[in-house]
Amino acid sequence: MFNKVSHIGIAVKDLQASVELFSRLFGKAPDHTEDVPDQRVKTAFFTIGSSSIELTQGTDVSSPVARFLEKRGEGVHHVSFVVDNIEQELARLKGAGFQLIEDRPRVGADGYLVAFLHPHSTNGVLIEISQKM
Ligand code: ZN
Repeated sequence: MFNKVSHIGIAVKDLQASVELFSRLFGKAPDHTEDVPDQRVKTAFFTIGSSSIELTQGTDVSSPVARFLEKRGEGVHHVSFVVDNIEQELARLKGAGFQLIEDRPRVGADGYLVAFLHPHSTNGVLIEISQKM
């Protein structure tokens, strides 16, 4: 079951510059920063109420975020939802005809297992589902 919007991911070219920008916007420092080698990104999270904003920068030119930036520039990259059981949701979504980027969840930022749905099957929006480890 989808529970809530966990966060909105924003792809940025220069994480440090964007952390300064969004710190000015929100009037506070990020709550959490983290390198996620598995996804070749570094991230900064700002908690806003019960969800958060994730700034994400690719750490090498071939990472998916770096390729997104090259094609589309900076901006909203993905919307992430918390689910109860990520394995079960992946099976359900696959059965419902959605195109999965990965069949198995991976280790994402902030202690979550994550998996992505291809934007081709979701009206152009990259959807992330996540479950707390
Ligand atoms: Zn995310």
